[in-house]
Amino acid sequence: MQHDHRSALRSLNLKATPKRLAILTILEEASVYLSPEEVWKRMKKKFKRIGLPTVYRNLEELSEGRVISKIIHPSRKLYYFLCKNRTHHHHFICVSCRKVEDITFCKVKEVEREVSKKINGTVLSHILQINGLCETCIDNQGHER
Ligand SMILES: [Zn+2]
Ligand SMILES: [Zn+2]
Ligand SMILES: [Zn+2]
Repeated sequence: MQHDHRSALRSLNLKATPKRLAILTILEEASVYLSPEEVWKRMKKKFKRIGLPTVYRNLEELSEGRVISKIIHPSRKLYYFLCKNRTHHHHFICVSCRKVEDITFCKVKEVEREVSKKINGTVLSHILQINGLCETCIDNQGHER
């Protein structure tokens, strides 16, 4: 596991510092998206005097290096998630249990083409995140489908 994270960091030209490796292990073990505060609480077990700003900075660096994904909850709160899928894809996030599912088909390319035409410019990238409730949460909470 540790080895995995090390090589992932190396392939993205990021130094495999103990803090970065610890964050990746925490996110992997959680398997759901976590807030910076939650990561910080878990980091303190290993790095007693670590401050929240350090955790914020490391999360941001890992996200900029695309080792982890940023999740913006509909509440506007920021979370982070470890996804090992390196190909172009999007995420379905359950707003309740925080489960994340990979959506591997992307039809936004068509939208990009239309937008390029309309603005007479060029589209460089897009961000798409689908928010909702997973099957388990619907069953547990009696939500209407
Ligand atoms: Zn759910
Ligand atoms: Zn993913
Ligand atoms: Zn896409």
